[in-house]
Formats: sequence, C-alpha cells, structure tokens
Amino acid sequence: MIAVLPIIIGEKNPVLRQKTKKVPRITKDILKLIDDMDATREHAVGAGIAAPQVGRSERLCIAMINKRAVPLINPFITRRSDKMETGEEGCLSLPDVWIQVPRSKEIDLQYQDAKGRKQELTLSDWDARVVQHEVDHLDGVLIVDYAL
Ligand SMILES: [Zn+2]
Repeated sequence: MIAVLPIIIGEKNPVLRQKTKKVPRITKDILKLIDDMDATREHAVGAGIAAPQVGRSERLCIAMINKRAVPLINPFITRRSDKMETGEEGCLSLPDVWIQVPRSKEIDLQYQDAKGRKQELTLSDWDARVVQHEVDHLDGVLIVDYAL
C-alpha cells in the first residue's frame, strides 16, 4: 500500500539539517520510499520532495522535471552556470514562508534512476530551480538560508 507520509516541518529541525547518505543499493524498501514520497508530494501539491522531509536520511529526492515527477537517487549537481536568476520559492517543510532565492539558470545533474542506471541531464530555468532546491535538502540546506 502506498502511504502519504507526515512531512517534517521547521527550519531548526535537526532531521532537515542532516547531510544525507548515499543509497548503496536500490532495494524494495527504497522503491517503496519513492512511491510513498511521491504520494506525499502529490498530496501536498509540491514541485518536489526530499527524503529528510519524511524523516529519512537517504540521498534521494523527487523533482518535477518537464512536468513529470522524476525520482533522483544519489543526485549530484556537477555544473552550475555562473548566470543566476532570482525567483520566489516555498517549501513543504516551511509553511507560509516565501523567499527570493538566487539559483543558477542552468545545471548539469547526475543521478541514478529507479533501475539503478546512471543518468545525466542538463536542466534550465524552473526545472533547474526545483532540482537545486531538492538537492539542497539532501545537504541540509533550506531556503531560509538564502534570506538576506
Ligand atoms: Zn523544500
């Protein structure tokens, strides 16, 4: 059964501030976590969700890319453009908080898909913003850290 999970809330919550650990192997537990995280994201109407937001410590997130929810296992941003763009962001873990966040306009992303295959993408604009937000979560970074 796919479950909607409780979302961890609060900028000082240590669960949201931990650095996540690489997923060594894509087990049934990981695939179930992906399904549950996506159901949780959909239920909360978010553009993405990261494992710490549901109390887990795996380097795993889901991001809307090209209007589809894509699970990103062990994602790393391997290039960030110098060209930046500032835009308003919210976060499922920070209700009613909206912050202007500068992000690279374009990024290169490496990750594994749900079958464990290595994938590489070049993303720009909104897709790049969503992925930078989610990968930040995996390093314990929240949008409030960008507040002036
Ligand atoms: Zn967030």
